[in-house]
Amino acid sequence: MINSVMYTSKYHNQIKENSVKQLLHIIVKIKKQAEKHGIRVHITPSQYTSLTCPKCGHISKDNRKTQEDFKCTQCGYEDNADHIAAQNIELRLTSDVLRSKLHNIDKYGRLVPKRLSKYTIKAILEEYYAPLSIEVPSYRQCMEQANITLLGGNQGAV
Ligand SMILES: [Zn+2]
Repeated sequence: MINSVMYTSKYHNQIKENSVKQLLHIIVKIKKQAEKHGIRVHITPSQYTSLTCPKCGHISKDNRKTQEDFKCTQCGYEDNADHIAAQNIELRLTSDVLRSKLHNIDKYGRLVPKRLSKYTIKAILEEYYAPLSIEVPSYRQCMEQANITLLGGNQGAV
């Protein structure tokens, strides 16, 4: 029984290893073809790209109920899971904060992922989205808090 489990585990590891090799081969091919045509290829860490809500930043496995469907358990934002991942990848490369915290720049000017644990990446993402979880008061709310009436005119002007 134990041998059988070990065999199964080895078999699955072999499949995983082959899948990783194939993926690396595809990445190298894409990079070569793109650079042959003058297109610079940037690589970003993949952790949480399909589990992070691009609207509120909530990260959870529960956001992705199926392979195809994403629905944020915090704000309710819904979209195709692949589209969500693409949005998150784009954000990591276009946001100054995420670009600098998640990547290094190689000698050719390409972004390459920093060696970070998935926990560090999650902490960086949560820190990035933290300001979004604080509700920014509207102009009217600020004025009301300051006890200033919004009736218009030249009130208070002498
Ligand atoms: Zn959300």
